[in-house]
Amino acid sequence: MAFEPGCLKYDSAGLIPAIIQDADTSTVLMMAYMNKEALEKTLATGETWFWSRSRQKLWHKGETSGNVQKVQEITYDCDRDTLLVKVKQTGAACHEGYFTCFHYRINPETGQTEVIGEQQFNPEEVYGPKCQPEDNPPAAEDSGGAPALGHEGDEKKAPAVNALILEELFQVIKERQEKRPPGSYTAKLFNKGLDKMLEKLGEETTELIIEAKNRDRKEVVEESADVLYHLLVILAEQGITPAEVFAELAERRKDD
Ligand code: AMP
Ligand code: ZN
Ligand code: ZN
Ligand code: ZN
Repeated sequence: MAFEPGCLKYDSAGLIPAIIQDADTSTVLMMAYMNKEALEKTLATGETWFWSRSRQKLWHKGETSGNVQKVQEITYDCDRDTLLVKVKQTGAACHEGYFTCFHYRINPETGQTEVIGEQQFNPEEVYGPKCQPEDNPPAAEDSGGAPALGHEGDEKKAPAVNALILEELFQVIKERQEKRPPGSYTAKLFNKGLDKMLEKLGEETTELIIEAKNRDRKEVVEESADVLYHLLVILAEQGITPAEVFAELAERRKDD
């Protein structure tokens, strides 16, 4: 019987997950989304096509990197909501330069993430200085949790600010702590003392939790800023600098 792409179950956005597997080694290479048109193009061309959620357009895997995937076999599962595509992979599947996207291993003993496998190319050389996976698109409805880097060919650029803003803000907080200027919210927090600060952190954290559950991007950004600000106030109150916290993070990175 003739296969009809319309017989598959697509989600409310018209997408179906496609697991891409290396035909020779059975290594699972990546997961991306197809829509009906991407599947049709995949069937017609014998190379994988996906729907890019971040760029909101059809994406021919390999269009930038040259790492196209020659389709060997396409299967779908019992409830018709997932595709499994066996391919011959040119070069490496992952835009981070690894053969498989699944190169992050959670170490069961330490709970730390470690990188497995070897990087086969330098992503910056292939894709340019900024590149981010399809799974963590900056788009509103289905944004992931990856570090907010830009995307090759993406209009949304990361703003020209970075974590140094925390240091700057901390300096302002310390200045308010010292001078207690009237009308300053920070000065008011210091006048009221630690319990008030902790109460505020609790409140802002709760708000963050609610907005994250709502997947409201804008609110999550705002509440995260509130949490970071109140955290810095508490650090100042305790006589701890952000640098000490950063050093702790750096220390942990050494272990993985
Ligand atoms: P490519 O299809 O390899 O030419 O890459 C084009 C763009 O798609 C890159 O800039 C990446 O952002 C994205 N991309 C490529 N491969 C992957 C992958 N395995 N997983 C997620 N995103 C990818
Ligand atoms: Zn299924
Ligand atoms: Zn990847
Ligand atoms: Zn992925």
